[in-house]
Amino acid sequence: MEIELSPEHEAIRDGVKKIVDRFDDEYWSTHEEEKKFPFEFHKAMADGGWLGITMPEDLGGAGLGVTEAAVMMHTVTSGCGGYNSASTLHLNLFGPHAVVVFGNPEQKERMLKPLIAGTDRACFGVTEPDAGLDTTSITTFATKVDGGYRVTGRKIWTSSGQVANKILLLTRTTPKEQCRKPTDGMTLFYTDLDKSRIEVRRIPKMGRNAVDSNATFIDDYFIPDADRIGEEGKGFHYILHSLNPERILVGIEAVGLGRGALARASKYAGERKVFGRFIGENQGIQHPLAENWTYLESAYWMIMRAANLYDRGLPCGAEANAGKFLGGRAAFEACTRAVMTHGGMGYSTEYQVERLFRESILLRIAPITEQMILSFIAEKVLDLPKSY
Ligand SMILES: Cc1cc2nc3c(=O)[nH]c(=O)nc-3n(C[C@H](O)[C@H](O)[C@H](O)COP(=O)(O)OP(=O)(O)OC[C@H]3O[C@@H](n4cnc5c(N)ncnc54)[C@H](O)[C@@H]3O)c2cc1C
Repeated sequence: MEIELSPEHEAIRDGVKKIVDRFDDEYWSTHEEEKKFPFEFHKAMADGGWLGITMPEDLGGAGLGVTEAAVMMHTVTSGCGGYNSASTLHLNLFGPHAVVVFGNPEQKERMLKPLIAGTDRACFGVTEPDAGLDTTSITTFATKVDGGYRVTGRKIWTSSGQVANKILLLTRTTPKEQCRKPTDGMTLFYTDLDKSRIEVRRIPKMGRNAVDSNATFIDDYFIPDADRIGEEGKGFHYILHSLNPERILVGIEAVGLGRGALARASKYAGERKVFGRFIGENQGIQHPLAENWTYLESAYWMIMRAANLYDRGLPCGAEANAGKFLGGRAAFEACTRAVMTHGGMGYSTEYQVERLFRESILLRIAPITEQMILSFIAEKVLDLPKSY
């Protein structure tokens, strides 16, 4: 049983780190405060060829697995950009998975190449205000017309909608009550996000402000047949394919974020003198930090195991969900402890840990909440009745 990173993984880590290290605290805190998308970072990662890490090689990607993407994203969030930096890239890695697997050759060429080059930016329109986590209750409706569909509905939390020119959009094409199963009757599109026709309204939020999130209003918007992914009515099943990679990547991004916060806390503990000694000399400061390391490390390897299973084509739902849960918790605890270790300075923006702390709670909520993960494990692993 191999549980080490390979030399290839280390090369990915080192290559990504070289780019990540060019973007310092000042860059990220300015982008956070001014709510500006980090175009320069996005371009640097595209130029380095990293945006296509999981995309097919014949389209210009690297054709690597989720394990390699996890190594990359862990390195990204361990740097100064935390979760802002991950969210700049995240959708490229798992979002277009449905296009990779179910798109036709013309769609792959047209949709994926510009994503890999970084010339297109896509957002993900799944969540709706009235459906919440109950995705089968979405009501955004695509009505078939000549040559395409006319779509009306409302999405919420569409991240990076302000800077994206494309949207992966989940719609209903048959009302839920007319379907044999609630998961039937949904159709997936990857199409233009034409902001002269679709209103994308920024939502003021707690953190991760370099990457916007939005309420998206779609009113009688025409989408051509050519932009429908796969068959009509199967959209939900296509989206399911990307769920485990998404859980794995969000989990590992959380671990990187927590590690970044822990590194800052340890550094401060070794430099700050109170009562004539470094605060890090006190076990009351050391032990919680050591505990954070322990949780982060165990989350890391749970997630890497999930990635390894996924890449070998084995079932990994329980591990991917558990990894996302552990990563989110471990990151939140580490970021909270990093603020506490800095004392009053933890509350100032100067030491950055408050920024990471605000990001860390998001990883417990999105893209899937802790309750839903636990319900999944209770049902699928422990054989308890489905509770939702
Ligand atoms: C910053 C941010 C960015 C996001 N970006 C995107 C994006 O780009 N695209 C996109 O589509 N979505 C996005 N989301 C949406 C995100 O995936 C959802 O917010 C998340 O899935 C939770 O859904 P909800 O907010 O509707 O919670 P709700 O469904 O309203 O649930 C509220 C609470 O009740 C709990 N709950 C509900 N039902 C049960 C039950 N049966 N048992 C136990 N607990 C239950 C939930 O776990 C949760 O804690 C984003 C969200 C945020 C905050």
